Amino acid sequence: GAHVAAIERLNGRLNAFITVTADQAMDAARRADAVLAKGEAAPLTGIPLGIKDLFCTDGVRTTAASRMLENFVPPYESTVTANLLRDGAVFAGKTNLDEFAMGSANINSAFGAVENPWKRAGDADTVLVPGGSSGGSAAAVAASLVMGATGTDTGGSIRQPASYCGIAGIKPTYGRCSRWGTIAFASSLDQAGPMARTVEDCAILLQSMAGFDPRDSTSVDCPVPDYRAACGRDLKGMKVGIPAEYRVAGMPAEIEAAWDKGIAWLRDAGCEIVEVSLPYTKYGLATYYIVAPAECSSNLARYDGVRFGRRVPAPSLDEQYEATRRAGFGAEVRRRIMMGTYVLSAGYYDAYYLRAQKVRNLIRRDFERAFQQVDVLLTPTAPSPAFAQGEKMDDPVQMYLNDVFTVPASMAGVPAMSVPAGLSASGLPLGLQIIGRSFDEESVLAAASAIE
Ligand code: GLN
Repeated sequence: GAHVAAIERLNGRLNAFITVTADQAMDAARRADAVLAKGEAAPLTGIPLGIKDLFCTDGVRTTAASRMLENFVPPYESTVTANLLRDGAVFAGKTNLDEFAMGSANINSAFGAVENPWKRAGDADTVLVPGGSSGGSAAAVAASLVMGATGTDTGGSIRQPASYCGIAGIKPTYGRCSRWGTIAFASSLDQAGPMARTVEDCAILLQSMAGFDPRDSTSVDCPVPDYRAACGRDLKGMKVGIPAEYRVAGMPAEIEAAWDKGIAWLRDAGCEIVEVSLPYTKYGLATYYIVAPAECSSNLARYDGVRFGRRVPAPSLDEQYEATRRAGFGAEVRRRIMMGTYVLSAGYYDAYYLRAQKVRNLIRRDFERAFQQVDVLLTPTAPSPAFAQGEKMDDPVQMYLNDVFTVPASMAGVPAMSVPAGLSASGLPLGLQIIGRSFDEESVLAAASAIE
């Protein structure tokens, strides 16, 4: 009840939710109370969550923040959200995002931008972005509208908004959470994960979300460990790598300082700090912005106005495709589709897409080599704290540069988490990123809980 009231009070300003399911949430909360009264609680009984509006929810509108799916009501539940419901969670509504999860500031939503609940010290007027694409989830958790939220991360969309909003968020190993029923952006990169105020809350939510699903061919059939037990685990002897290539030119001094503090905290906790090298890091962004648009152009071809979603009727089929896409897709989505079809086209495939796949393998091998020396890596999550709405908006490349520290782990498929690590000089939250070996989310959670 208190959470629903908080949403009703604050969502008008924050715009964190596209759809609020207050009545269903209150009914579910009453049922949860009855279950609790009988002493039969499941792991998440009665816990109010926000669900990124990219997860299909049975009977509840699912838009991907796009005009294309403005009135789409799925007749099925995604595996991840079904797992959360099985464990007793209560959904407060569907959270805002960049259209089809493409963006880093949550300004690309057809339902309007999301406001970061944080303000710069002494500056109550400037509206800051929450990061993206899971900006609605991050803002809802940071403002205590819900206790946790789901996100998806293709190149940083859980970690970067978590960092900008001062909360924790983990992108698990690719294959850990089922992609079934989650609207696809770039299928070889997309991974669902939790966002919450503490590392332990993330562990509890991930426990429920994760697991093998035969309906997703890339879901991996391996046991899900006890994530909660990993939080607060003794770190004595853990080897933590500091990748030299992440000390990029022009990084603000306060980000460096936060990183140094994180190193000191882990050293104090008994970790051994080791300098490592990931030489192909510098190609991460360029490769990501070939692979992700290529896969997006293929995935978004299904929004043709014929089978589901928006349809703008026209005299011929070709004209109907054109009119539907013109009405349905925003500017960033169109840009990505055009980049994607270009790098996949017959004359350019070898020069761009094929080359990017090869470099992606080199990036993956960088991590394999580093993880022969160390157990986890520690880096900043993003090269800056949250910026103002309106900044970096007329130059897409400036926006893409935000993702410099998050895309390499996505390209390699390894787990990575952002954890709050203090405030900037302007009073804004800064996040540090912990990257781990494939399927070793436990070490990531353990190291993160020593930092928060
Ligand atoms: N900011 C990146 C992009 O725009 C990552 C988005 C994501 O992880 N979904 O593609």
